Amino acid sequence: MSQAQHHAQLIDGKAAAAALLETVRQDVAALRASGVIPTLAVVLVGDDPASHVYVRNKVLRASEVGIRSLEHRLPADTGQHALLKLIATLNADAGVNGILVQMPLPAQIDEGAVIDAIDPHKDVDGFHRENVGRLVLGEPALTPCTPSGCLFLLKQTLGDLSGKHAVVIGRSNIVGKPMAALLLHANCSVTVLHSRSVGARELCRQADIVVAAVGRAQMIDASWIKPGATVIDVGINRIQAGDKTRLVGDAEFDSVARVAGAMTPVPGGVGPMTIAFLMKNTVLAAKRQSQHDL
Ligand code: NDP
Repeated sequence: MSQAQHHAQLIDGKAAAAALLETVRQDVAALRASGVIPTLAVVLVGDDPASHVYVRNKVLRASEVGIRSLEHRLPADTGQHALLKLIATLNADAGVNGILVQMPLPAQIDEGAVIDAIDPHKDVDGFHRENVGRLVLGEPALTPCTPSGCLFLLKQTLGDLSGKHAVVIGRSNIVGKPMAALLLHANCSVTVLHSRSVGARELCRQADIVVAAVGRAQMIDASWIKPGATVIDVGINRIQAGDKTRLVGDAEFDSVARVAGAMTPVPGGVGPMTIAFLMKNTVLAAKRQSQHDL
């Protein structure tokens, strides 16, 4: 498709994340000046290559903004008891402000039990049921990083979201459900679509805002999108392009760009925002634990 046919404004997640990380860096410097070293413990179990890449990126980003990270790499055959013991140690360690356990975990470990074991004040992923409850109730919470990043990009692009009809495609605990809660608190009218939805395309076509978090390569084309709508594409999917693999979103970019008012690319959209919010949550946790924001 030629450039001339591109109508949608590109929402630059890389630039937004860089700006956000700069404010985090300043917060970290202020905390360090007052004797607090914001610290993130990262726990990785097993050899999943994608998880190793994610952890490497998180540790790198942390060091760039001055957050200390402590890596705990455990073998793939680690038992649940051993992992829970490590989490209890990290919970009790006043020098650790945030705990991130990289998912997915090996089959012998119950992910829910691990999330439940993390001190909610150190739960920088925002997955603990106390933080989920607080988010739904509209109380201060550590909120999940990916939907927080999506909301940031939407507010930056559209300003006040009040009264907008938002359609969230996907209802997972890490993206779809918290996204819907955040949009509701931002005064959107929210529709959540999932694999059992009837007439999904028609419902989506009524949206001012579309957040796609399905995990199906290029499922959403222009026929799903109201002209001028803002589209946030959370999906990260690998497709075969000749003899190479390529990352694509849940939206068919060129098709959607012809009708959308603004949209995020994949890569370079939501992905960088997720890591930026992990750093922001770590600093928030450190501030609250050291009572610096009270
Ligand atoms: P899940 O697989 O947990 O959830 C997918 C959701 O999509 C489910 O709720 C499912 O419905 C719904 N769904 C599946 N098929 C359809 C369909 N045909 N029509 C409508 N809804 C459908 O995925 P995640 O939420 O964990 O992730 C979604 C995508 O986002 C993935 O590509 C993932 O890689 C990416 N991701 C990106 C991140 C980033 O930083 N950019 C972070 C996290 C995720 P049902 O509940 O009925 O099964």
